[in-house]
Parts: sequence; C-alpha cells; structure tokens
Amino acid sequence: MKKPDFSALARQNIRSLTAYEAKEIPCRVKLDANESPYAPDLALSSQVMASLNRYPDPQGLALKKALSKEYAVAERQILLGNGSDEIIYNLIIAFGGPVLYPVPTFSMYGIISQAIGEQGIGIPLQSDFSLDLRKMLAAIRKLQPKIVFLSSPNNPTGNSFERKAIEEILHVSDGIIVVDEAYQPFSKEKSFIPELKRFSNLAVLRTFSKIGLAALRLGYIIADEGMIAEVNKVRLPYNVNALSQALALESLCRKTESRAGVKKIVAERTRVVKELKSMPGVESCPSDANFILFRLSNADAVHKALIRSGVLVRNMSVMIPDALRVTIGTPDENAAFCAALRTIIKERS
Ligand SMILES: *Cc1c(COP(=O)(O)O)cnc(C)c1O
Repeated sequence: MKKPDFSALARQNIRSLTAYEAKEIPCRVKLDANESPYAPDLALSSQVMASLNRYPDPQGLALKKALSKEYAVAERQILLGNGSDEIIYNLIIAFGGPVLYPVPTFSMYGIISQAIGEQGIGIPLQSDFSLDLRKMLAAIRKLQPKIVFLSSPNNPTGNSFERKAIEEILHVSDGIIVVDEAYQPFSKEKSFIPELKRFSNLAVLRTFSKIGLAALRLGYIIADEGMIAEVNKVRLPYNVNALSQALALESLCRKTESRAGVKKIVAERTRVVKELKSMPGVESCPSDANFILFRLSNADAVHKALIRSGVLVRNMSVMIPDALRVTIGTPDENAAFCAALRTIIKERS
C-alpha cells in the first residue's frame, strides 16, 4: 500500500494551517512564555492519590464551588477547561463564526477559528495598541460576529483596553463578547467579572497558567448560565484531570502565596521598564501584564544573540515589526536579561 498524501487528505482549512510553535529552545533564563518564575509549594493529598483508578469529578464541583465563592457568582455560571485554550475551542465549536478580534493579539483566536473552519476577522489596533473603537463597532454592525475576543491586558502588546470602549462593544453586539483576563491579576484595571450582572452577553475567561500553575492546564470561563449550558454540550467528558482539580483547589485556599508572587512580578516589571528605557534605541511599551513588549532595530539578530547569551525571549517580529516580548522573571533572571541586552546593543552600535 502506498503511503497516503496526508496533507492532501486533510481538510482544506487544515492544509494551510501551521501548528502552534511552542518551541522548546533550551536556555538558562527562560522568559518567553509568560509563565510565573515562582512555583507554588503544593502537595496532593493521600485521598487524591488513592483515587487515581477512578475518573475525575466530571463537573469539577469542588473547584467550581471555591471559584463561585471567590467571585460571588453561581456555580452554574462557571465552566472549567483544560487550559483556557480549550475553552476558546469549545466556544467556537458551540457558537461558530464569524469570530472577531483586534490584531495583533493572542494567536489562538485565529488559529482555532481556522482549524474549525470558521471565519476569523482581525481588526487592526491603533498605533498605540489601543482599540480602534470606530472600526470595531462598524465591523460588529456589518459582520455580526457570533464571538468577539478581547484580551485585556492584551497579549503580546501588554496594554489593557479602555473600559469604556469594551462597554460600548458590549452594548452594540448581539453576539458574545469574551474578555480574556489571562493577565488581569497583573493589571491596575479591575476585572470585568462584576459586570456580568449588567451584560448578559459578556463572558470572562481566566486561567491559572500565568499565576504559577501553567503545568496544570486549567482555565475557566464565567458567564450567563444559559451561555455556559451551550458550551457545556460540546465539552468533552472528564476534560480536567483530578490532579489539576485538586491542586488548583489547594492554590485557591492559599491565595496569599500566589498574590505575593504577583506583587513581586509587578514590582520587577517597573524596574525592567526603567532599564529598557535607559538603553539606546529601545522603545518599550507600557505593560499591565507579566511581560513587556519592546522594539529595537534588528530584532531577529538581537533575539538570536540573546539566545547565545542564555536568555530566551519571544520574537514577535512576524506579528509586529522589530518587536520582542520578554516575560518578567525573578530579579536575578531580569538582571541577566537586562545585562545581556545592554551588551548586545553596545556591541552592535
Ligand atoms: C496564555 C494565554 C491564554 C492561554 O492560557 P491557558 O489557560 O494556558 O490555555 C489565553 N489567553 C491569553 C491572552 C493568553 O496569553
């Protein structure tokens, strides 16, 4: 039997898709994936370990109960996902497209839309990376998207979108507005979760990934219970494993620890911004998240030179010309990054 041409066998929309590169370049200082540098000190109970032969709680009730207390919402307003990525996937499966989002933003909104065969529409941000409200509203009126994704703070630009602008989009849209708050814990802006009382078309997406528990793959969405019921229909059974459920629950019980980590990262962010500002030819963008986008000439070459110095940052220059994105790490990691970048700039000038 001849080996099939798998690419030709794949659906049309899959053929032109490229796999999300979660590249693993080994580096001493890893500042490319917006992870927290602080691993919480959690342990699994003997009760959890004694039940590994059983399927996990399919609804994740204990965790949902804790989250409902934390945010003063009903348990039926919460859905858990194997990472918030999975929830983005389930939302688009359940409601379909068109799917609209500002660009540049988190690439999964577009990748998942294409994978499912739904139209993804990117509306360019303004040059200061704020929402182009006029264009957004016009596109929403004209194209009637089923879902709008707003990452606020936005990955990879780092800024939060203006609250008034998001509220206007909520008012105008007949579809679902997902405010992706993956980075909200690092922001000076308040969460949109309390706004769920005012807007039934609002959904707030959250994750444990950026606050110290990326390995768990655990995200959740909070929305109107009618919306949650529809998404729940396409959720695969047992999508969140028992170990992740138990560890996330434990981390919620020990909030002070994760808050302390966030506080340290926010303080370090101020320091790194100041350092970047003092480097000739480097333009850094204001950040409300646990990373900073910065621009300089020859970003590709600088990215490679940083890797040679043992520092891995994310090269964003395909999406944003001359842009690199650095995640805030420990004070030592940040110092290593700043020293390496300073040296590289000096050598190149
Ligand atoms: C990292 C990230 C996510 C994905 O989070 P997971 O819960 O790890 O899947 C979602 N949205 C944005 C904007 C992100 O940057």
